[in-house]
Amino acid sequence: MRALTLVADRKIELLDIAAPPAPAAGEVQVRTKAIGLNHIDVWGWRGMAFAKRKLPLIVGVEAAGEIVAVGPDVTSVKVGERVVTYGALTCGICKACREGRDNLCENVSSIMGFHVDGFARDLINMPARLVVPIPANVSFRDAACAPVAFGTVQHMLFDNAKLEPGETILVQAGGSGIGSAAIKMAKAIGCTVMTTVGDDAKAEKAKAIGADHVINYRTERFESIVRKLTGKKGVDVAFEHVGPDTFNGSLLCLKRGGRLVTCGSTSGQSITMNLFQLYLQQYRITGSFGCSMRNIRESLAKMASGLLPVIDTEVALADFERGLARLESRQVFGKIIVMF
Ligand SMILES: [Zn+2]
Repeated sequence: MRALTLVADRKIELLDIAAPPAPAAGEVQVRTKAIGLNHIDVWGWRGMAFAKRKLPLIVGVEAAGEIVAVGPDVTSVKVGERVVTYGALTCGICKACREGRDNLCENVSSIMGFHVDGFARDLINMPARLVVPIPANVSFRDAACAPVAFGTVQHMLFDNAKLEPGETILVQAGGSGIGSAAIKMAKAIGCTVMTTVGDDAKAEKAKAIGADHVINYRTERFESIVRKLTGKKGVDVAFEHVGPDTFNGSLLCLKRGGRLVTCGSTSGQSITMNLFQLYLQQYRITGSFGCSMRNIRESLAKMASGLLPVIDTEVALADFERGLARLESRQVFGKIIVMF
């Protein structure tokens, strides 16, 4: 069977490998249909000094597929059912797992497609407890955005930032996969959405998906515009994932007691922060990584009711690296999906 395999930094090859055995007890076998690309794929592809992993490594962190076989005792899903897969091998028994806080599993071994072999292969065996059925009216292509992109945004906005209808939110990098999802999810509950983009073409697209105010951060200072738009009060929530280039500016955009939630740092790792500002303004800053199984179900339910991901491009399996290069260059608006 086919497997897209990272063999060296910036080198992915389509290899022919042995198919997995029949699924064991508690497992299902999934035929991969679509893979969503995320920044973590770019990091994995470029190589990260601190990531403990061994090459060769099958890539693909976020996937949708179809069940082709089930283990002897599996009754939760059936052959032929369409599913998405959780992207990390959680233990299922620790306190966090039992409480449904899967992304805080105390014994999580690794992220699939980054530390250990991922989903970009024809067949994979997974624990049955780590797949979520796809609603009938949601395509593989759209569903493939649920486990990482939509799930992460759902977790950030509603579990962590506790975004409420009618609030104001600043979404950094609204053209990204998660930025575009955040705009749509916040708008869907009646929030006022401000977002930053890097060019005028993206500004038009951000408006088209519901952003109320779009700021081109290359030509305007977003901090000043946000303060002006909010009558100097600031926004309730800042949605961050850019990092050093925007983090302190995002804090400046918050109202007193505002919440900043971040899940990434594509522009670097470290910042300096004004602690006077942090406590006098009573900011709440939350780090967020991944999501729970519940967040994936919530994401798929949103898709089923019409809140669909913004798709930048669909690429064929052979063009996986071209997709990563496009993501790395930030020339995207929405998600890049690799179809099997
Ligand atoms: Zn656990």
